[in-house]
Amino acid sequence: MPGTELFGKEEQKEIDDVMRTGILFRYNHDQLRAGIWKAKAFEAEVKNLTGARYAHAVSSGSAAVSAALASCGIGAGDEVIVPPFTYVATIEAVLLAGALPVFAEIDETLCLSAAGIEKALSPRTKAVCLVHMCGGMADMVSIMPLIQKHNLILVEDAGQAFGASYKGISVGLFGKAGCYSFDFFKIATAGEGGVLVTNEEKIYKLADAYCDHGHDHKGNNRGMEQHPVIGFNYRISELHAAIGTAQTRRVPEIIQRNRINKSLLTNLLSDLPDIAFSKLPDPDGDSATFLNLLLPDIPKAKATADQFDKAGLSGFNYWYINMYHFINQWNHIKQLKTAARLPIAITGTPQDYQNLALPKSQQVIGRLISFSIRCTWSREEIEHLADGIKYCMLNSLPG
Ligand SMILES: *Cc1c(COP(=O)(O)O)cnc(C)c1O
Repeated sequence: MPGTELFGKEEQKEIDDVMRTGILFRYNHDQLRAGIWKAKAFEAEVKNLTGARYAHAVSSGSAAVSAALASCGIGAGDEVIVPPFTYVATIEAVLLAGALPVFAEIDETLCLSAAGIEKALSPRTKAVCLVHMCGGMADMVSIMPLIQKHNLILVEDAGQAFGASYKGISVGLFGKAGCYSFDFFKIATAGEGGVLVTNEEKIYKLADAYCDHGHDHKGNNRGMEQHPVIGFNYRISELHAAIGTAQTRRVPEIIQRNRINKSLLTNLLSDLPDIAFSKLPDPDGDSATFLNLLLPDIPKAKATADQFDKAGLSGFNYWYINMYHFINQWNHIKQLKTAARLPIAITGTPQDYQNLALPKSQQVIGRLISFSIRCTWSREEIEHLADGIKYCMLNSLPG
């Protein structure tokens, strides 16, 4: 959790600014707030870091995905290609939008592949929700031509890739809209929070209204503002935005430190037989929040994860069995267990969710073990971890 590793007086100062005025609400109250606008400051920091033309801060990364889908015109009955490896919020957002998730294959980038997307296309495909996983990025050079060729809408869930880029362009800015999460586990945290980015004014304005009950935010009489569209409350509070502002300023330093620590750990493991890593289409754009090991096969990966547990190693994820990140454990989605009926219950599912064949994704995630990189690690801690990983990998026999 790199963001929370560097928590200090900078965050405190931003919070104190808000507490002095007592204006916890992001809009209006121009006199009382004495020039303190933390949601706007947070958005400015995100624009500065990513190069986005527009940014809109919201209450969570999940809310940002919902707002992105809505603002891009993705809704009832639209087929949206999604990966089977993501935080489950991506799939929830598509379903709650009334749209229909179509699962496609990922590859060793841990993200949807162009081949996977192509295979999942149908005449009803409206959009692709591309998720940049584990601090890295998808292979944009092969994906973008496909998006253009088929005239698809690209929405990027960069929930766990804030600060990552592909050939100098921030992930989140390749499509119509992109999303970052600032929950407690991300490279920068606001406690809870998310940011939608876009280069299109029209998308930004729609998102701005959608996330605040349709308010057009014109004038200074909130109760008399126009409501061009139906929206909901996905607003961020000034307190959360204050923390997000301070944390976003730390991201360049966090990435720099992460990269040093990740490359040291990688080098220390390089003499292991059979060691392989996930593919980074642009290594220079890595936010380096994870070191992703690819074991030779699934039994070996399972045995190794067990060994890591037994040896008391912490900070790793074997996503294959994780309840929230991989489709194998999403029975509630496959069986459409909803609190109340969703449009998909009426239209029907675009695929047989109970019998999906995603052999490539199964192989990749079955072999994947990810270690969180800490930016505050000392050299000794990294060496100790590398020794632990080596010991376990050399001593784990499948079965
Ligand atoms: C964390 C995350 C989200 C959700 O963000 P929250 O802020 O927790 O709602 C969405 N997508 C991905 C890929 C994430 O990692």
